Amino acid sequence: MPPVDSNLVILAINARYSHSSLAARSLMANMQHARPLLLECEIKQTPQAIFTKIAQLEPSILAISVYIWNRQLVDQIVPLVRENLPQTKIILGGPEITYDTQSSLANEADCVICGEAEEILPKICENIANGKPVAHIQHATPPNLAKLAFPTEAYTDQDLLHRNIYIETSRGCPCACSFCLSSLTCGVRYYPLDTVLAHLEKLYRRGARHFRFVDRSFNLAGKRAVQILQFFEQKRRDDLFIHLEVVPEFLFQNLRDLMVRFPPGSLHIETGIQSLSPEVLQRINRPANPEAALEGIHWLTHQAHATVHADLIAGLPGETLHSFIAGFEKLYRTGPAEIQLGCLKHLPGTKLHQEPGMRFHKNPPYQVIASDAMSPADLDQVHRFASHWERVINRNHFPHTTKLLLQSPNIWHTFNAFSLTLERQHGRYGIGLVEIAHELYAFLNANHIAATETIRAALEQDYLAEGRRMNLPAFLRPRAR
Ligand code: SF4
Repeated sequence: MPPVDSNLVILAINARYSHSSLAARSLMANMQHARPLLLECEIKQTPQAIFTKIAQLEPSILAISVYIWNRQLVDQIVPLVRENLPQTKIILGGPEITYDTQSSLANEADCVICGEAEEILPKICENIANGKPVAHIQHATPPNLAKLAFPTEAYTDQDLLHRNIYIETSRGCPCACSFCLSSLTCGVRYYPLDTVLAHLEKLYRRGARHFRFVDRSFNLAGKRAVQILQFFEQKRRDDLFIHLEVVPEFLFQNLRDLMVRFPPGSLHIETGIQSLSPEVLQRINRPANPEAALEGIHWLTHQAHATVHADLIAGLPGETLHSFIAGFEKLYRTGPAEIQLGCLKHLPGTKLHQEPGMRFHKNPPYQVIASDAMSPADLDQVHRFASHWERVINRNHFPHTTKLLLQSPNIWHTFNAFSLTLERQHGRYGIGLVEIAHELYAFLNANHIAATETIRAALEQDYLAEGRRMNLPAFLRPRAR
């Protein structure tokens, strides 16, 4: 392998430390004659702090992947580089700039790569190094995945121990949902299965146990999905954690037969349901079968004992608050461990702007303000509910206590009332566990949802399970009784 060359720095700004950048590592693995230096930062860092790190390296070329989560930071970092490191050539790529080539950010760059950059980046760097002219906008042809190298070596031992390891075995999606960037590429391309398995084996031998697959629909190529899962099933280890994004309507029998052989909790399944309204699904061009999807989620949860994370999106064209809540209630009854409620975003390049009656924020994350069927107040209700649901239910700090809360036949109604109380007392974000415990105690008592002693016992049990005896709130301490 060629030595690391700090003349080319690939800057990845991740949402958090645990998110190792797969895109940056894939670029590194395919640089051929150069071995760039990877500079990984997090969005909680200031633009000045990130710029200082760049300046210390004095790169000849700085390549930055731009995503929805780091766009605003990149908007601030690029002018700093321009002004203070005038010799540094700036190359931008990534989905957030691919469809925004007229922006001031794109104009500040020396070169913008639209599309998948592994094959074109080495050529551009070579041209820059040789003083040859480089076109400002470069449209990359999607590479043949059989010719790309896997970034096996780009993961350090520290990455394997402490961070998420992302695995990509395919690119693209066969569906064309109108809000999704994956709908803009044609069909699905696959890495050769034998190289995927060899990559997994090397990472496994080096100690990796947590594998997060980024394939948009892991189980659509059923035979491949089975062969990849068989690799893990043969390892027969309890410390394996495998994250997959699946389409629950397509859990073929041979896949089910394999999934039930994994230890409970080792499979983490993400499934983007988005809506359970057939009319809405049709509007967004999403071929889905809501009843089959619900059956699939129920099976994954109760038969495969997988940890299921299911997503719904509020604000899709035609989705009313009423139909959204009805979908949420149905989804909740299937038993997923986590339900994430998001609000629709208008990603540049997607066709949502063709839908009448939709209003979006103009800056990242381009969130919906109002749809043709939901008012700003409706969307704010979903946003508040989602924020508290994430903190109180999805994080699962109070499993026994929230079980009391959610025994209601009308989950939305009950949790929404609790969420309103929580917001009145503590706002929407960053609420501490003691505050949540207090509000649960007060709400459950005030609404006579269970006997006071039952509520106190559930809260105490949740605290003990979390190992927080020293911090037990006063109202839960034995001597306070
Ligand atoms: S939302 Fe999911 S199914 Fe639809 S196009 Fe995007 S990746 Fe494919």
